[in-house]
Amino acid sequence: MGAIRANLQAVSARIARAAQAAGRDPHTVRVLAVSKMHPAAHVDEAYHAGQIAFGENYVQEALGKMQALARLPLEWHLIGPLQSNKARLAAERFAWVQSVASERVARRLSENRSAEQAPLNVLVQVNVSGETSKSGVAPAALPALAHVVAGLPRLRLRGLMAIPEPTADIALQRARFGVARRCYDALAGEGLALDTLSLGMSDDLEAAIAEGSTMVRIGTAIFGPRGTGGAHPDGVAKTHS
Ligand SMILES: *Cc1c(COP(=O)(O)O)cnc(C)c1O
Repeated sequence: MGAIRANLQAVSARIARAAQAAGRDPHTVRVLAVSKMHPAAHVDEAYHAGQIAFGENYVQEALGKMQALARLPLEWHLIGPLQSNKARLAAERFAWVQSVASERVARRLSENRSAEQAPLNVLVQVNVSGETSKSGVAPAALPALAHVVAGLPRLRLRGLMAIPEPTADIALQRARFGVARRCYDALAGEGLALDTLSLGMSDDLEAAIAEGSTMVRIGTAIFGPRGTGGAHPDGVAKTHS
């Protein structure tokens, strides 16, 4: 009972410690609860523990939960790779899309965001892992894409997202996140009004916060392991010290 609430509190405590160690205000780091492969009932439970923003990787899976939880004022973020044939649905249903990595997808999103809705918040996903990753735009191609996105009428470019390759090497984690941070600072220096740097997951949020993350995307540490057929997490979140 209350495992999700306790896990959310444990994540907040980790964020507070990491922010303090970095000399940052913990309130500058938002939590996106990543609910992929977890049922709507667990999202509901997290909402009742105070969590508003949820991340999903698959449009179709997200639509089912949105429908089941339509009564709640949730903020849905798409964080998985987006095919352009899913861009219309994504533009209509999500508040944020964090995985924009091509001009083609960005234009589709803008074209399909209705005038009655607020502009769609978007992050450009940057590839900070070089050859070992296929997702995201290369840092060298980022400025051109970011300026195109910033100019599209129904999108609001908020910043960058990155998913480095998993590694237990803290120095490597920080190096990868640092690449994203420098890209972000460079774009801000070119006059783009950015406020969101989405870096860090359950296993590397400390390094991400040290490098300036303003949004950590946390699945396992809140909802427990995935792929258990949606079993309820009972204090199964990984612990960090
Ligand atoms: C699944 C996922 C997460 C959450 O990962 P955890 O390790 O479970 O915290 C964060 N971001 C993206 C893009 C993901 O696909």
